Amino acid sequence: MKKALIIGGGFAGCAAAHQLKLLGGWDVTLVESAPYLGAGVRTKYMGGHPYTLGPRHFLTPWNHVYEYLNKYCPLRRCAEHEFSTYVERDQAFYSYPIHADDFSKMPDSAKINQELKDLNLEALALMSPEQIAKLSPEEKRKANKAALATNFEEYWIYSIGKSLYSKFVDTYSKKMWMIDDNKTIDDFAWSPKGVTIKEGARAAWDRAISAYPIAPNGYDDYFDIATVGTTVLLNTKITHFDIQNKTVVFNNEKHQYDVIVNTISPDLLFDYCYGELPYRGRDLIPIVLPVEFALPENVYFTYYSSDEKYTRVTEYKKFTQHKSDSTLITLEIPSLNGKYYPMPFKAEKAKADQYINLMPDGVFSIGRAGAYIYGVDIDDTIDHAMKVVEQLKA
Ligand SMILES: Cc1cc2nc3c(=O)[nH]c(=O)nc-3n(C[C@H](O)[C@H](O)[C@H](O)COP(=O)(O)OP(=O)(O)OC[C@H]3O[C@@H](n4cnc5c(N)ncnc54)[C@H](O)[C@@H]3O)c2cc1C
Repeated sequence: MKKALIIGGGFAGCAAAHQLKLLGGWDVTLVESAPYLGAGVRTKYMGGHPYTLGPRHFLTPWNHVYEYLNKYCPLRRCAEHEFSTYVERDQAFYSYPIHADDFSKMPDSAKINQELKDLNLEALALMSPEQIAKLSPEEKRKANKAALATNFEEYWIYSIGKSLYSKFVDTYSKKMWMIDDNKTIDDFAWSPKGVTIKEGARAAWDRAISAYPIAPNGYDDYFDIATVGTTVLLNTKITHFDIQNKTVVFNNEKHQYDVIVNTISPDLLFDYCYGELPYRGRDLIPIVLPVEFALPENVYFTYYSSDEKYTRVTEYKKFTQHKSDSTLITLEIPSLNGKYYPMPFKAEKAKADQYINLMPDGVFSIGRAGAYIYGVDIDDTIDHAMKVVEQLKA
């Protein structure tokens, strides 16, 4: 039997263990430094309320990924879910993604509409008559310069104008990434999940399948199901990596493998030889409130786009459907605790790729930190694990 090592027991590591088991013929060991599997997706409890580190709702455009997870972790669809943003200067809550129907409620609506018109005219002025002739009336109305943007700030200003940028994006993004200037973000293909201004239905991501586990303990059972037959070593750290020889040391012993699936920051595997990859973390404050619901009916979470310390408030009952007279919300505060968010800087992604390129055949680096891509969500971790097995089959 061939031997595989999985480094890290978050979603990516557990999904990889499961895919190898489904493939068959592999002796799999998973090494996890924490005392449990699942990382931030693991369910915690306060006052009987289940919650996770941030919303962790399952969104995917891929049917096969949905069907896979639904088979082992039955999911409840939550198509109606909405998000909102609190804008302090307007003393108002608006939909997020930014919704066209909200403009008329904004104190500066005339300026916003003018900016959008100007942006549209500037974009059309940059096109040739032949290019314009090819546009549908809808495309013509929505034309903007976003494709020319070289950084995150330009992308948003070209897409939505300066007033909406300042209201919804500017301070939020600086707070989220703990940076002084949004122009430093130059790797922004992940944002804003394809939507700048929404029209029509308010449901947040109506182009994706949106779901959450039915079980009161969320995804937890999946982590156990996925690792049946895998040797899971919790509270275990790898103390030495010799990736070229697919050899590592843990528990004071050397272990060699045919395949390694890494899901942690790749710099650690090579002793930071090109320098350390930066991340942002999160502090999470759970609060139980003496009301049945805190956020409006379909609002699952609210972003805070001003100078508050927190970026997002999540109401977990909306996902979990936990029954109680009280409700639990969490405040997410950006911090340096945890390697949760790879920085959206091209230079750092290039550095991560330098590490990944050092990996020989048979070593894979997947998941959010492993691939060093902020846009990797739960569905992507499963997709990455499926692709590893596809490559092993080939
Ligand atoms: C606040 C927050 C909210 C989110 N909300 C959503 C959401 O709503 N929907 C969605 O789809 N995605 C969401 N995500 C993203 C998604 O949850 C993650 O992309 C996914 O869970 C990452 O899984 P992973 O296995 O790649 O990484 P991780 O979950 O980080 O797992 C890595 C594992 O490796 C372990 N480890 C680290 N170092 C070592 C070491 N040296 N040795 C052994 N083990 C080690 C860690 O303890 C951890 O268990 C959210 C992320 C965050 C941070």
